[in-house]
Amino acid sequence: MPTARAAAAAVRVDWEVLEPITDPAAALVGELAGISGYYAPAAFLVASVMVVSFAQRLVRRVCPSCKTVYNPPKEALSFWNLSRIRNANFQQGRGCFSCMHTGYKGRTGVYEVLIINEMVQDLILKRKSAHEIARAERENGDFTTLRQNAAEKVIQGVTTLEEAASAVLV
Ligand SMILES: [Zn+2]
Repeated sequence: MPTARAAAAAVRVDWEVLEPITDPAAALVGELAGISGYYAPAAFLVASVMVVSFAQRLVRRVCPSCKTVYNPPKEALSFWNLSRIRNANFQQGRGCFSCMHTGYKGRTGVYEVLIINEMVQDLILKRKSAHEIARAERENGDFTTLRQNAAEKVIQGVTTLEEAASAVLV
């Protein structure tokens, strides 16, 4: 089965769907999921690497009709390691008719993402432990945690620190 189709099957995500697949890339994802002890909810191809999302959460989006710039409390910023971030666009909703005075409208996802590049493929084939693979990924910047991804969405003004905390820190 071509890799793209295998990846599409993985996105639909019945892990059983992948079982009969002999394609090496798809098999790799299955193997990695087994190593990590995670259930991989989604996998898709970007260029020649495979991207796997191991976890996801929904966060509420700041209402576009009443959003306004705000400065999160210092303690919260330091807790999220955002104290030194430049050009952050922190936004929160004041509350309006459109969002029923909640300050939020709609939702977006935050993801934990692992990019399976050649280095990771190599580590998997060498039967390295999940711990070693995760460490190598972190050192290479190819692993994004839920918390990092949530923080990025806060910096972009998509959601608030409070909302990110309620989704990620539970
Ligand atoms: Zn609003």
